[in-house]
Amino acid sequence: MLVQTDVCIVGGGPGGALLGYLLAKRNVSVALVERHARIEKEFRGEHLTADGEEILVRHGLFDKVVAEGLLPMAKVEYWKDGRAMEVLFPDEEAGETHMSIHVPQGNLLGAILREAKRLPSFRLLMNTTAKELLRDSEGRTVGLKASRAGAELTIKCSVVVGADGRYSVIRKLAGIPARIKKHGFDLLWAKVPQPEGWEPVIRNALAGDQPISLFTQAGGFIQIGWNIPEDTYPALRKGPIEPFLEKFIDEYPDLEETVRASIKSWSDFILLKVYSSYSETWVQDGVVIMGDAAHTMSPTGAFGINSALKDADVLAELLLRLDLSEPVEAAKLLPFERERREEIDRFHRLQQEKEAAYASRFR
Ligand SMILES: Cc1cc2nc3c(=O)[nH]c(=O)nc-3n(C[C@H](O)[C@H](O)[C@H](O)COP(=O)(O)OP(=O)(O)OC[C@H]3O[C@@H](n4cnc5c(N)ncnc54)[C@H](O)[C@@H]3O)c2cc1C
Repeated sequence: MLVQTDVCIVGGGPGGALLGYLLAKRNVSVALVERHARIEKEFRGEHLTADGEEILVRHGLFDKVVAEGLLPMAKVEYWKDGRAMEVLFPDEEAGETHMSIHVPQGNLLGAILREAKRLPSFRLLMNTTAKELLRDSEGRTVGLKASRAGAELTIKCSVVVGADGRYSVIRKLAGIPARIKKHGFDLLWAKVPQPEGWEPVIRNALAGDQPISLFTQAGGFIQIGWNIPEDTYPALRKGPIEPFLEKFIDEYPDLEETVRASIKSWSDFILLKVYSSYSETWVQDGVVIMGDAAHTMSPTGAFGINSALKDADVLAELLLRLDLSEPVEAAKLLPFERERREEIDRFHRLQQEKEAAYASRFR
């Protein structure tokens, strides 16, 4: 099967989905390639900050996401010895009505893709995996080969966008080197039902010298994010879970019942290997990478999703100004990298500073 389009976006995460919508809305023909068959995917960070919210509002998508379901956070708390020692509220004088917002990723993607699918120049290819870049005699990328349910698919286009996440195949196929920086910790995620009367709050505490955070979720759940020293999970898993849970209950005694009822074994946790990545370049003739593919972030501060949305917003504006009737040269894509790299570098530094300063907040 052959598909001809102006822009082929690989990856239907928040970045790729928003980019596809923004381009198709302005009549650019787009094929969005996503390897999963359904949008409800594995466990992800799902908190929108003010930056992400502003982008969705500006593009008329926020109300659509509200209709799918989301939950604004009322406050952020810092806990010690089983009680809140510091509470932060929205800055009402600055017009804030909430802290961050929890949006299940299925709801965010569902809302964006539902709007995109109404547009005649948008084509969504689910269950389709990008495998190989197609290049012309001058070495410019002019499309890709993908597989869909065992069948080969060729997509010809003027630019391939790698929005395919932290393990980006497009970045690897393009031969763009990326430096990895470890942060000294990994993260265990778990999800437990909220007890009766639970408020929409983000809580932070320290168990020993490791942060444990709680993120209230839409739909009646609490997401637990628990830092553990890097690479220690295999050894931890060999021991009993009970002493580990005791540490949690010492910090958050009001959650003892729900935690004991929901976390019975190590299999109730999901491990996230934490690192950030720094790609040598984000552009090449006929290729641009964005979001986690270009700059994986650590989970600290929920910069990942929000940065991917911002990349999409900026890249869409640039692509709309370019001639997409032929392969787009790297030099023409470079303004996107120039505009976004500075902020991403700043966020990467900010994450490291926040991580280093976290423990001092509890002294
Ligand atoms: C377990 C986990 C927990 C996280 N926790 C947080 C958090 O707490 N806070 C935070 O801000 N961020 C967190 N993140 C990161 C956050 O989810 C990402 O920063 C954000 O989703 C980036 O969006 P993206 O669109 O760039 O990439 P992604 O959301 O990763 O989307 C990439 C998409 O590309 C698809 N894809 C990959 N390869 C191919 C291929 N070859 N062909 C077709 N499709 C392909 C994938 O299926 C996926 O849908 C977490 C990520 C993970 C994995």
